[in-house]
Parts: sequence; C-alpha cells; structure tokens
Amino acid sequence: MEYRRLGKSGLKVSALSFGSWVTFGNQVDVDKAVGCMTAAYDAGVNFFDNAEGYAGGQSEIVMGETLKRVGWRRDSYVVSSKVFFGSQNNPTPTQRGLSRKHVVEACHQALERLQLDYLDLYFCHRPDPETPIEETVRAMTELILRGDVLYWGTSEWSAQEIMEAYSVAREHHLIPPTMEQPQYHLFHRKRVEDEYSRLYEGIGMGTTIWSPLASGLLSGKYNNGIPQDSRLMLPGYEWLKQMMESETWQKRLVAVRELATVADEIGTTLPRLAIAWCLKNPHVSTVITGASRSEQVVENMAAMDVVPLLTDDVMAKIESVVSTAPIS
Ligand code: NDP
Repeated sequence: MEYRRLGKSGLKVSALSFGSWVTFGNQVDVDKAVGCMTAAYDAGVNFFDNAEGYAGGQSEIVMGETLKRVGWRRDSYVVSSKVFFGSQNNPTPTQRGLSRKHVVEACHQALERLQLDYLDLYFCHRPDPETPIEETVRAMTELILRGDVLYWGTSEWSAQEIMEAYSVAREHHLIPPTMEQPQYHLFHRKRVEDEYSRLYEGIGMGTTIWSPLASGLLSGKYNNGIPQDSRLMLPGYEWLKQMMESETWQKRLVAVRELATVADEIGTTLPRLAIAWCLKNPHVSTVITGASRSEQVVENMAAMDVVPLLTDDVMAKIESVVSTAPIS
C-alpha cells in the first residue's frame, strides 16, 4: 500500500480506502462487514469512510460494531463521517443541513453510533444554501478545538464555495477545510481535473474521491445485464437502476466493454484498471473503494500493482476509448 498526505496536512492516508455507503447500509451483518474491513485493513487500508445519512445511521452502527469486534489499535486507522442529510427518514428542519446545531449534534450522534471518542475526518456532505458558510466553519472549528474531530472537509462543494470557507476561516482565525470528497472516475472528471486545479497548490487541498467504479459500472458487472445480486436490485436504489438504464449510461457501457479489451492487453481486470486510473492522478489523496463482499475488496486492492502498468501509451489508449478529458 502507498500512503499519501491528505493535502498539506500531516495525516497520511492509504491511497486506497474503504467506504460503507451501500455495503453496510442494507442489513449487511457484522460478520460480512468484518470480512470486508479486515480484507481492506490487511491490505494496508487505514481510512474507512461513513456518513450520518448512510442507511439512516445503520452504516455507522455496523462499522462501530465491526471496529469493536476486530480490536485494531485506534491510532492505526482513520474514520470519517459526513453531515447534511440527517440520519433518519424525513428529518425535521433541525435534523439536517449545516447549521451549527445540526453539525454539532450529528457529530455527537455519529460518535455514539460508531462507539468512538473522536472522528478523524468530518465532512460537510453537500453545501447548504440556507446556512452561512461562516456558521459552518465556526461549528467545525469548535468541534476540532473540543477534540471531537481532527480534520474537517467538504464534499461536492464548488471551488468557489471551498474558497469562501477557506477565506472566512483565514479572516476570523478559524480552522479551514483540509480536504474535499468529490466524485471522480473515468466518466466524471471536470471538477477534480479542472475546476479544483488551483486549490491543490493554492490552499493545499486534499481529495478523498468517491465512486471510482462509477457505482459499479466500471467493474464490468453490468456488461451483460443487471445481476440479481448487485446493488441495483436493492430496495431503495431504484434511482440508481434508472440511472444505469439511461441513454448516457448505456453509452458508457459501450466504452466499458472496450476498456475490458485494454485491461486484457495489459494483463489485468477492468475494476483494477479503473481504480488504478484514479490513483494515477497525484491530486487524489485516497480512492474510496466500495464493495459488497470481501472478494471484491481483495480484487480492488490489487489495483495498486496496476498503476505502474498505466504507461503514457496505455493512458492514451484509455483516453481514446472514453474521450472524457475535460476541456479547460
Ligand atoms: P464504486 O463506484 O467503486 O462502486 C462500488 C460497487 O461496485 C460495489 O458496491 C459493488 O457493487 C461493485 N464492485 C466493487 N468492486 C467490484 C469488483 N471487484 N467486482 C465487481 N463489482 C464490484 O464505489 P461507491 O459508489 O460504492 O463509492 C465508494 C464510497 O464512496 C462509498 O462507500 C462512500 O463511502 C463514498 N461515497 C461518497 C459520496 C459523497 O457524496 N461524498 C457518494 C457516494 C459514495 P455490488 O454492491 O452490486 O456488488
């Protein structure tokens, strides 16, 4: 495993990390969670991602139980949560968003569910148009000063919003965000490669990127239809199935089938190639992988070995298949 600095912070995160969005969200038992997280940890993963909104807090409960069961030293791993959507269906106005009240309460609730004393990383999951950025920055600063959180960041904020948070923090002697959690994969690149380009050097922003396999599409598992045991068949994920069946995604599927040939040519698999492609970007601090079973985790961790195979020629070949490089 390779370890990368989270932006300009001193924290070293594993280049591949593990997220629990769908995995732990659907009554996955703790045994299965132990299998997935242990496979990741054994491969050198030190960062486990979560959010208050994943299955109404259930995902944090399962991760907390898992961490208790495996008994790893607390200083050997990093755990995150994210605040915004609330942890229950139909949250009331005080139970969601980025107000000081919800940011602080959601943090304490996440700690309780995870059975932890502090969160290493805490993200604002989406910007909140109804809360001044200064209020959120102050709330995050207070949580850090109290020792409830070590580093805070944003998720899916625009470059302008991130700069505003940074400037407000600098102006009022508060703590600025350390990292952003954006979507990034072969079919979704503009933000990471273009919009944020000035933030990496400018403010030392790190990135913990999500959905490296485009919700599984780049694993190749949908090349011949939707398998019954895939996340697309889960109740509550009908929106994802609809997205997969859309014209845009069906076009992507054609490219994915071609990418399988490129993977074959360099002697690897499609998921490894797609994850390794994300790792090639030096502005990516960590790639948050998702998996519903431990065999997938093992497969995805092998992407580390594929990075050196992605020579300029291979990268050009991949580009010619997807044609998704953003125009600046
Ligand atoms: P991916 O795009 O990598 O999709 C993961 C899914 O792909 C798995 O659930 C599995 O599907 C399938 N898969 C994974 N590996 C393989 C493999 N080797 N072979 C075949 N199929 C495979 O990532 P996610 O969309 O899950 O995102 C990763 C993490 O990022 C999340 O867990 C979460 O922590 C974070 N995230 C953050 C968001 C944000 O807004 N900040 C939004 C979304 C995710 P199946 O379940 O069908 O087996």
